[in-house]
Amino acid sequence: MGEERWFYRSAAEWIAIAERLKQTPCPHCKVVGALIRHGFLRGFDESSPQQKTVRARRVFCSNRNARRGCGRTFSVWIADKIRRLSLTTGGLWRFLQHAAAGSVLGAIRMAAGHLSDRTLLRIWKRFDQGQSKIRTALLGRCPPPETPAEPSQRPAAQVLAHLQAAFPDAHCPIAAFQHSLRAFFV
Ligand SMILES: [Zn+2]
Repeated sequence: MGEERWFYRSAAEWIAIAERLKQTPCPHCKVVGALIRHGFLRGFDESSPQQKTVRARRVFCSNRNARRGCGRTFSVWIADKIRRLSLTTGGLWRFLQHAAAGSVLGAIRMAAGHLSDRTLLRIWKRFDQGQSKIRTALLGRCPPPETPAEPSQRPAAQVLAHLQAAFPDAHCPIAAFQHSLRAFFV
């Protein structure tokens, strides 16, 4: 899945990560002792379309004040946010389920208001193009569920069923995917 990403699900998890920063190697340069907090990444999503919410915490690998870091920054994401999309994982999950079960255009009509049709179509394409990567990542956790051989079962629906089978107890399977596999879902 490429570069490992960092996620947290709760304030307590973030505090635990923040308290360990001094002992954590930088993901870029591997130096220990240079990581410091560096503010927030904020943005809109359907849970807060009018006001920006925190989407990720920034961490700086400090090369100042005699620290030996590389000077680069990285993000520790809240597990239910989607990078580059003003949508939460819950909103994305609902949209993809509607689209996979019915039609993409039907799902676009049902989606809550703040995203344009074009944006939603782009989101669907991003998921569609990432399907094989998602499937490979899920196979590391469990086999795909046995599904009756229905001609209507499209690949997208199978991927979503696999996702749900991999995280059966998760409130949102996409957030669980990101947090457990340390990778962006799309
Ligand atoms: Zn570094």
